[in-house]
Amino acid sequence: MALLELRSVSKSFPHAAGTLRVLENFSFSVEEGEFVAVVGPSGCGKSTMLRIINGLMPPTAGQVLYRGRQIDAINLECAMVFQSFALMPWLTVKANVELGLEARGVAPAEREKRAGVYIDKVGLDGFEEAYPRELSGGMKQRVGLARALAVEPRLLLMDEPFSALDALTAITLREELLDIWRSADLPVHNIIIVTHIIEEAVELADRILVVSSGPGRILADLKVDLPRPRDRRKEAFNALTDQVFSLIEERA
Ligand code: ADP
Ligand code: MG
Repeated sequence: MALLELRSVSKSFPHAAGTLRVLENFSFSVEEGEFVAVVGPSGCGKSTMLRIINGLMPPTAGQVLYRGRQIDAINLECAMVFQSFALMPWLTVKANVELGLEARGVAPAEREKRAGVYIDKVGLDGFEEAYPRELSGGMKQRVGLARALAVEPRLLLMDEPFSALDALTAITLREELLDIWRSADLPVHNIIIVTHIIEEAVELADRILVVSSGPGRILADLKVDLPRPRDRRKEAFNALTDQVFSLIEERA
């Protein structure tokens, strides 16, 4: 059984001039253990797709199955990481990391323990009592990641997680993300990352879904067969990057 399956999922929003068609006929499945990247231009519906997968909003048509069952509420086995970090500025690092656990009704002592574990895992040991304003962008996203990991999600959803970071910080965090995904003692075994950075998708994912805009359609579902760690200077890496770029450009 697939971990996740989208069957002919479409999404429209009411709009001044009628309806805005955002996603059209999205069908794909994610197998257990896969790292999937979704690449497409800004506005093609990537964030909307993640919200539907997370159960935050229903599709207009079609079905979303998670481990064979239709999603009709927020999926507690998912956690989300956002481009904007989405931290509460008035809360400490520890309290921010505990937020998802609090929402799931985890008792305070257990919350505190788990927050400590995952703050360590993302390399923020010693910053538990710091506030977001005291942290660099990279550190803020580490908090975002710790908050997501703390709920021990089977499926991690990431919405442009490294787009707001400087290039060098992004390189480090991508490597650490791969370590987290491969680590046997962490619960995250599946990742869906949304990005407009094609190289990021080629570097990280087992598969790349290429999405067009206006309305969003899946143009291609490409398997990435390159060994890890992936070297951006290799010809095969660039060939795949060019292929994705051409697919998007043809539709632009
Ligand atoms: P992406 O993440 O690929 O940049 P989004 O999913 O954020 O794209 O948005 C796709 C389109 O849907 C945009 O035109 C956006 O304005 C519109 N949209 C997203 N959410 C809503 C909403 N809740 N109501 C109305 N329009 C929305
Ligand atoms: Mg988006």
